[in-house]
This record gives sequence, structure tokens and C-alpha cells, in this order.
Amino acid sequence: MSTSAPAVGSAPLLEVRALQKSYASRGPLGTRRPVSAARDVGFTLRRGEAVALVGESGSGKSTIARLVLRLEQPDGGEILWSGDDVLRREPHQASLGYRGRVQMVFQDPFGSLNPVHRVEHHLIRPLLRHAKRTSRGGVVLNNAAAARPRALELLRTVGLEPAEDFLRRYPHELSGGQRQRVAIARALAVEPELLVADEPTSMLDVSIRMGVLNLLAKLKRERGLAILLITHDLASARYLADRVLVLYRGRLVEDGPSDEVVNSPVHPYSQALLAAIADSSQAGSSRQERPRPAATAEAHSGCPFASRCPQRFDACLTSDPAPRRHDNRLVRCHLYPATAPGDQG
Ligand code: ADP
Repeated sequence: MSTSAPAVGSAPLLEVRALQKSYASRGPLGTRRPVSAARDVGFTLRRGEAVALVGESGSGKSTIARLVLRLEQPDGGEILWSGDDVLRREPHQASLGYRGRVQMVFQDPFGSLNPVHRVEHHLIRPLLRHAKRTSRGGVVLNNAAAARPRALELLRTVGLEPAEDFLRRYPHELSGGQRQRVAIARALAVEPELLVADEPTSMLDVSIRMGVLNLLAKLKRERGLAILLITHDLASARYLADRVLVLYRGRLVEDGPSDEVVNSPVHPYSQALLAAIADSSQAGSSRQERPRPAATAEAHSGCPFASRCPQRFDACLTSDPAPRRHDNRLVRCHLYPATAPGDQG
């Protein structure tokens, strides 16, 4: 179930093409092995659309988020913002434009707010920074008093009322869910068009997760905010996202409408991931983390999932499948007939 349909046919706000990133990791006896955290990753995100990146721990979700946020430089690939190649821009141009439009909400609401400052400080600082950056001869918010009404409005938007009361509070006077709402309000202060939310509810009590997801759904619906949701929780992905992208060892293995991917995954890895999550929830486990896969190069040149795949056959060990279209999805698996390169949507 997704919460609203994105603008059908609209041009992508964000387009990621063939993104690559690897790290040198220390192996046994001090040897250095390449770890491929993003391999040939490509996807699009439209205004008012939410896309969830799901995969077990170590599959590369946070790496892709950091690359999209431009906190790290990719080894290859392109990031287009409304068609404009942001990786080719000068750093100061990028920070003026792209970085303001893409904001982040972190997993840990307890670590993301400075405990010595009141909520007021956390909201007024980005409001003033944003006003300075965007003012072009109009009315400028140049002091805290002028920015205060806007800070109150932001608190109301994220459901923290009475807003005057929350503005005066320190982070330790807020619950986890309230802190996460303040973090979302702070991100909204600079009027972003894309929110990257890295496991935004995983550290919250189950009872308040839904409230935060509902807030994100409302922002997407009412403001046309695009959301890149990083999660290993498929229930959240299905609730908030229009599309789910399944990641295995830095590689997108399935991309399709969230209901379809979650209810009837077609890639054997997506099927295994769902079965494992269903098992762990039946066993009453609240954590759905899977063991970290070693994202090192495979011993063979075939599909990276082949060694774990219950459905593998000869071709899987000798050739790495290109993405192919299957029903409404893109899937990287030899079980499905290859499509012509121009037919991959
Ligand atoms: P996820 O968010 O899905 O848990 P990550 O993006 O954190 O995955 O990690 C993907 C892979 O890249 C993992 O094997 C991880 O160990 C490795 N990795 C991530 N960041 C670094 C880094 N700064 N240095 C070395 N290896 C890293």
C-alpha cells in the first residue's frame, strides 16, 4: 500500500545513473580487499514520490544515501537534479543549490539534536541561513524574532502543539517520536524538495512509528516532497513508498511498485529477504537485521547472489545478469528472459 500516487509522467526530480562506490576494507592478516558498496545503481525519483531502498545490513543502503546527499564522492556514475548534473558542479554552486534542496533525517533522534540548545535554536538557525541564501531583495528574516513565527508554523506542521511550548523545550524534555518530529521540522526549514530518511522509525517505540510515517506521508502528499526511504523494514516501505528497490551487495536486484514487490517478490534474494523477515516477526523478534554479507568480489564472474541462491543454474555462475523487465518490474536474474537494452524502462 502506498499513500499516494506520484505525478504520473512528470520528469524525474532526481535521476541516479550507474552509480559506483567501493571501499578498501581490511581482510584477514591485514590484506586489503575491495568492498563494492554501490554497483551500477540507477533509479529515478519524482516530485511527491517515495522510493524505499531495502536490503539486509551491509547491502549499501547508507552508502547510496551518502552519495545522493553528496557527503561522499562516487567512483563513477551520474546524479542528475531536474536534469542538471550535480557531480560536475563546482562545490560552492552545489552547496547553494542542490544541498539545500536535499535534506536528511537520521535514524537516531537522540543523537541528532544538540542537547544544550532549545528546539527554538534548532529551527531558527536553518531558517535564518535559508532566508539569507534565498533572499533576492525581498523581505529578509534577519533575526531570531523575525524567524520565530515561521518556527512555530514548522512545529505545527509536524504536529507538535502547543507550538510555543515545544519551541522552549530542550531535547531531553522530548520523547523519541517528538525529537524525530523536530528533526523533520528542522529539515523542512530550508524548504527541501527531497528528504532522505535513513531508518527514521527504527529507534522509535513501535507504538509511535506509525505517527512519524503518517507525517512523512502527509508531507509527500500535501507538499509534493520526494522521499528516499532507507529501511530494512518492509512494512514501513510498503506503507510509505510508491516503489521498492531491493539491494544486494551494492546492486539493485529488483525495482517495482511497493505492493507488488512486498507481496510477490520475483528475485530469489527478495524472496529470501521477505521469508527471513516473516520468520523473525513470527518468532517475536523486534529487530529485523539480517547478518552482514561480505560485500567482496565473488569467486566467479556470475550473479553476485549465485552462491546463496536456491534456484541457481549454470548461467548464474558464468554470467552476471543485466536488468530485465518482468511485468511491472526491473529484475536482475537469469530466471527471467532478457529484454533488449532500450526496453528496460
Ligand atoms: P547498509 O546501509 O545497507 O547497512 P552500508 O552502505 O553501510 O550498508 O555498507 C555497504 C558496504 O560498504 C558494507 O560492506 C560496509 O562494510 C562497507 N562500507 C561502508 N562504508 C564504509 C567505509 N567508510 N569504509 C569501508 N567500508 C565501508
